[in-house]
Amino acid sequence: MQITMIGTGYVGLVSGACFADFGHRVTCVDKDAGKIERLHQNIMPIYEPGLDALVADNVAAGRLTFTTDTESAVAEADVIFIAVGTPSRRGDGHADLSYVYAAVREVAAAVKKPVVIVNKSTVPVGTGDEVERIVREVAPDADICVVSNPEFLREGAAIDDFKRPDRIVVGTEDARAREVMSEVYRPLFINQSPLMFTARRSSELIKYAANAFLAVKITFINEMADLCEAVGANVQDVSRGIGLDNRIGSKFLHAGPGYGGSCFPKDTLALLKTAEDHEAPVKIVEATVAVNDSRKRAMGRKIVKAMGGEIRGKTVALLGLTFKPNTDDMRDSPAIAIAQTLIDEGAHVRAYDPEGIEQAKLVMKDVEFATDAYSCAEGASALVIVTEWNEFRALDLKRIKSILAEPVLVDLRNIYTPAEVRRIGLDYTSVGRG
Ligand code: NAD
Repeated sequence: MQITMIGTGYVGLVSGACFADFGHRVTCVDKDAGKIERLHQNIMPIYEPGLDALVADNVAAGRLTFTTDTESAVAEADVIFIAVGTPSRRGDGHADLSYVYAAVREVAAAVKKPVVIVNKSTVPVGTGDEVERIVREVAPDADICVVSNPEFLREGAAIDDFKRPDRIVVGTEDARAREVMSEVYRPLFINQSPLMFTARRSSELIKYAANAFLAVKITFINEMADLCEAVGANVQDVSRGIGLDNRIGSKFLHAGPGYGGSCFPKDTLALLKTAEDHEAPVKIVEATVAVNDSRKRAMGRKIVKAMGGEIRGKTVALLGLTFKPNTDDMRDSPAIAIAQTLIDEGAHVRAYDPEGIEQAKLVMKDVEFATDAYSCAEGASALVIVTEWNEFRALDLKRIKSILAEPVLVDLRNIYTPAEVRRIGLDYTSVGRG
């Protein structure tokens, strides 16, 4: 199959490289000429474990190419994936579909043979209908099917998720499109990944429902953590106790500073807007969004409290800035609101992240950046673990204690046990362990 991927970001680049690895011929297109130029030199635009080797192998095998030229990339394609961004629209929280519609117009104008256009971007219910309308307007005589195929990969484990998905959802009722999509995903189908065909609107909603459900689960355990602190219980035991129930499951039950990232915040908001427009409110998701929003600054206040209530003029050291480990993605990371709360209270914030500093510099203006965990902690009045990168799991706590100005450790991911930290003489605050 000849596949064209429009948009070479987290989703487009990983999906394109994986499809090439399955044996398809893939052209990844991006508007960002600098990004394509760097990819020609095998410099990855994002940090994702294993991606550079996967890209290099498939480029060397002649199956994966990069271009800025949509027209030539589309001409020979059997399948065209749209994987451009769908951020929150400024002002109202609806998904901004302008990138999707612009990409579809460009593609439709360049199509030369029967083709399937597959929307991999996360888009609200009914977007496929509008895409179809645009296609008919731009290319009335073209033979084009419009399919929904949402992506469920997680940053940090993206290649594995793409190659071993829990399910592949394809929204189409067209027989030819089903055949083409079965061929595209055949290598995974052989591996027994369930390929689920459904109507296009159901497929579009599945993606939002999945993300909203996971956001609810995280937010639920975060509220339980607050309750644990109030009543003297341990949220990790509560998580384990409920997670062992197969109906609940143990994933996404880790208490922490609230969800962030490029998907949950914008997708929950967009779902609320869709629900509002259709007069079918989703109040559980409304509550989740509100609780999660307030939690980020609440974590800032938790740090202030752990430091004795007055932080003006003191230095606070933050470890981990990305919204989760193994990515450089800073979009909507809780670290941003936490740092701002501390700065608003008059503290100086110094921070370190293994891969995210370049991205963090773009969104955290008044923060000093360190080159490792220990230089970050040096002379600070508190050390705060915000994101649980592996390298923070086995810090030399004696050394940390000796270089901190005050022996305060705040662990927003519960990666240490209270007894071990206190034995070293650090004043330890974690989440939900009352
Ligand atoms: P991204 O911002 O990393 O990448 C989008 C890319 O598309 C950018 O490089 C941009 O330059 C390019 N682009 C925009 N318009 C273009 C056009 N007309 N032609 C060619 N290139 C164009 O975005 P992302 O994180 O990969 O997300 C893409 C979509 O996938 C979003 O809808 C997102 O919600 C969804 N999604 C993301 C993830 C994730 O973990 N990041 C997971 C599942 C689904």
